[in-house]
Amino acid sequence: MNTPSLLILAGDGIGPEVMSEVKRIITWYGKNRDMEFNVSEDLVGGAAYDEHGTPLTDATMAKAQEVDAVLLGAVGGPAYDDLDFSVKPERGLLRLRKEMDLYSNLRPAQCFDALADFSSLKKDIVAGLDIMIVRELTSGSYFGEPRGIFDLPNGEREGINTQRYTTSEIRRVARSAFELARKRDNKVCSMEKANVMESGILWREEVTWVHENEYPDVELSHMYADNGAMQLVRWPKQFDVIVTDNLFGDILSDCAAMLTGSLGMLPSASLGLPMENGRPKAMYEPVHGSAPDITGQGKANPIACILSFAMALRYSFNDGDEATRLEEAVEKVLADGARTPDLLGEEGGTPITTVAMGDAILAALDASL
Ligand code: NAD
Repeated sequence: MNTPSLLILAGDGIGPEVMSEVKRIITWYGKNRDMEFNVSEDLVGGAAYDEHGTPLTDATMAKAQEVDAVLLGAVGGPAYDDLDFSVKPERGLLRLRKEMDLYSNLRPAQCFDALADFSSLKKDIVAGLDIMIVRELTSGSYFGEPRGIFDLPNGEREGINTQRYTTSEIRRVARSAFELARKRDNKVCSMEKANVMESGILWREEVTWVHENEYPDVELSHMYADNGAMQLVRWPKQFDVIVTDNLFGDILSDCAAMLTGSLGMLPSASLGLPMENGRPKAMYEPVHGSAPDITGQGKANPIACILSFAMALRYSFNDGDEATRLEEAVEKVLADGARTPDLLGEEGGTPITTVAMGDAILAALDASL
């Protein structure tokens, strides 16, 4: 197979800082694991706006369509807050997701033992937690038509968004969840509001269809999304893979994320249909934003971005062993007490810098050989 290609879009704020550490890790894999990547870099978000007057050029979009995976840092910042909506940094990100048709958003909520005290929940509820939320990303209420704010004849105004899903949209994201479950604990819980929404009834029927016809070996359960939110904070370890729509997924994945503590720890993957070489269209990015409050101070935690690269190894490059190696290296440095400032609890301690965290993870990777 050809050398796999990666497009790095570091973006704004702490994006380039955390991505620098990922680049060192990519180099490490080339040197030590015979895994060369053909890496190119480009601009997105405010950085692209500054240079080209748009948050994503057509040329960059075309490159993103061609590579095996895109790694994105973060976009946005106060300098761009007053820009017209059409050229705001986030539009670059949305364009990538939309044009690459990245319909399956994977948000793991994994609690590293060393950070179990960080959760707002009791330690025994979160220690060892490892769940995956699969959120439908390209349809549902955030995209459905009609939408808008309209004037009514009686002088009132009306705001409309439309929750709509088609059979194929539901089936493809359900397949993505079942596939993941097969590589994990083989359980999927589908969440919707079939009790009050027709789109929820369709969702439940179609997920059940995919289960019965294609994945009968995987355990499937259904839950109303409001109960799902309660269960996530009551006993999250009951779940393995959760699959849900765009709107519920937005909320439930943030809720699950906070079970594990800091924003600086959370990776994500957005996957689309397989390309000719069998790899899915894919973009990997930390959940956090550009963190303007700490930009340029060496305080950013690079782990979310590094774990996003681990997801790329697992889901784009089919190398679960190497992904696990990287995740275990992160786990080891945390167990050894390495902490960027966001990971210092109430007991305090001496924080290390972004680069020192990268150094520690590289040393742990060396030690894993
Ligand atoms: P944010 O995620 O950037 O920051 C929230 C808080 O978490 C801040 O206090 C920040 O310092 C901290 N934080 C975030 N990542 C961290 C890390 N890796 N290490 C240590 N601390 C970290 O969210 P915000 O402040 O609401 O938004 C800032 C900008 O980022 C805005 O312009 C927003 O639109 C944008 N944003 C972008 C994305 C994205 O690129 N995917 C996501 C969210 C927000």
